[in-house]
Amino acid sequence: APGLLWLSRAFRFGDNPALLAALKEGPLLAVFVLDAATRALGCAPRWRLERALRAFDADLRRRSGQGVLVLEGEAQDVLPDLVRQTGAARVHQAYWPEPAMQAAQGRVRKVLGDRLVLHPGHLLTHPGRLRTGQGGVYRVYSPFARALRALGPDRPVAPAPERITGYSAGPRGLDLTTLNLAPDMYRGRAVLETFALPAGEAAALERLDRFLDQAGPYGAERDRPDLDATSGLSEHLALGEISPRTVWAISSLRAEADPPQAAGITKFLSEVIWREFAWHLLIDFPHMAQTPWRPEWAEFPWQGKSAALTRWQRAETGIALVDAGLREMRVTGRMHNRVRMVVASWLTKHLLTDWRSGLAHFDDSLTDWDPAANAMNWQWVAGCGPDAAPYFRIFNPERQAEQFDPRARYRNRWLAGWPGPPSAEASAYLDSAPPGWSISPHWRGDGADRAMAEGRNRALAAFGAFR
Ligand code: FAD
Repeated sequence: APGLLWLSRAFRFGDNPALLAALKEGPLLAVFVLDAATRALGCAPRWRLERALRAFDADLRRRSGQGVLVLEGEAQDVLPDLVRQTGAARVHQAYWPEPAMQAAQGRVRKVLGDRLVLHPGHLLTHPGRLRTGQGGVYRVYSPFARALRALGPDRPVAPAPERITGYSAGPRGLDLTTLNLAPDMYRGRAVLETFALPAGEAAALERLDRFLDQAGPYGAERDRPDLDATSGLSEHLALGEISPRTVWAISSLRAEADPPQAAGITKFLSEVIWREFAWHLLIDFPHMAQTPWRPEWAEFPWQGKSAALTRWQRAETGIALVDAGLREMRVTGRMHNRVRMVVASWLTKHLLTDWRSGLAHFDDSLTDWDPAANAMNWQWVAGCGPDAAPYFRIFNPERQAEQFDPRARYRNRWLAGWPGPPSAEASAYLDSAPPGWSISPHWRGDGADRAMAEGRNRALAAFGAFR
C-alpha cells in the first residue's frame, strides 16, 4: 500500500513532516484534489498554484519516477475512494489552515476519522504556544513578536531523501501538462507569464540565498518601490515552496556568519513574523476576510460599488503612484508593499470604499495571495483590524511618491516610461487592457492636490464622526 500525501500548499521536499510521514508508510502517492474551492480561487493565485504544482511534480518525477496524481472532485469523496482502492493506512497532509481547506479537512475527517493526519510546517510555531500572560490571544504585533522571539520558532525537520520510491499502481488522474487551471483570466496568461518569477523549491532557496547576501540595506530600502530591496519570497511562502521555519533557520545562521547583513536580516525576520501574526489571527478569527475584526466597524457607512471603484480597479484614478501600483499588479501579479498600503489607503480613505472590495480585487490579482496576510493588511489600512492604523493616518500618495520614489523611476516604469519610449512594463499594461478601458492622464499640480485635500477632509469627517 502507498504512503498517501494529500497536497494542499506545502509544495516542497524540505521541512515537510507530512511528506516524511507518508514516506514511512510506503511508496509515495502524492495526490492533489481539484475541488470546487480550488476552481473558485482568484485568477492570479490559481495560475500561480498551477506553476507550483508543476514544479513539485517535475521534482517528484526526478526523485521517484512518478508524478502527482491530480483528481477532480471533492476531497471527502475522492480520498476515501483512493484509500479503498490502494489500501493506504492513512492520509497525510501538511496543515494549511485556510478556511475552505479547513472545511474540507472536516468533511474528510467525518469519513476517515483519525486516518487523516495533519502535520505542521506552514507556520513558525503552533498558535497554542503563543498566549498572553492572561492566556489570551495576542491582538497587537509587538508583544506577539517579542513572545515569538523569546520562545523561538520550531526547527525545520530533515529534508526528504533525493531518491524516493514512488507508488506506480495508483489510478490515472488528470494530465498536469494540459490542466490549464486559469484559462479565463481577465488579464491574459501571457502577460503574467512574461513577467513571472521562477517557481518551485529550488528557486525559493536560491532567492533566499541571493537576498541574504545583500540584506544589509533592507531596513533602509524596503519601502522603496524603485529599488529591488526586498526578498521577493512571498509567492514561495504563500505556496509553501519554502517553509517559514527554513527561512528563519537559514537567515539566523547567516546573520551570525555575516555581521554586515545582520541588521537587515533581523528586520526581514520581523516581516516574516507579520506573516505569522496574520495566520495566528486568521486561525483564531476565521471570518477575518469577511468581517471587521472590531465589530463596531460593521456599522461604518462604506461606499459599495461605484464608478470610483471601477476606476481604481482599472488603474485609472489619475493619481500616479496609485495607478502605477495597480498596473504593476495587473501585469505581474505582484505589488510592492509600500504601494499596496498607498493604493489601499486611497480606496478606503479617499474614496471611502469598503475595504472588502479592495480585498476581493487583490484576492483575484496577487500571485502571492495569502488569505491571512491579505485580510489582516486590508483591515489594518482600513482601521478596523486588531492592531490597526489610526483613522487619521491617511496616506498622501504624492508625498509618499516623493519620499519613496524620489526620481519617479517606479512611476515612469508603469505609467509612461518618460523620458524615452514606454517601458516594456507600461507597454504590456497597455496591450493587456481590454477594449473600452481608457488610459487616464495623470494629474499634476493643482488637480491632484485638490482631489487629495478634498478626499482627506471627507475621510476625516466620516471617520471622526464615526468614532
Ligand atoms: P519582504 O519585505 O522580503 O518580507 C519577507 C516576508 O515577510 C514576505 O515574503 C511575507 O511573507 C512577509 N511579510 C512582509 N510584509 C508583510 C505584511 N505586511 N503582512 C504579512 N506578511 C508580510 N502579503 C502576502 O504574502 N500575500 C498577500 O495577499 C498580501 N496582501 C497584502 C495586502 C495589503 C493591502 C498590504 C498592505 C500588504 C499585503 N501583503 C501580502 C504584505 C506584503 O505587501 C507582502 O508580503 C510583500 O510585499 C511581499 O514582498 P517580499 O516577499 O519581497 O517581502
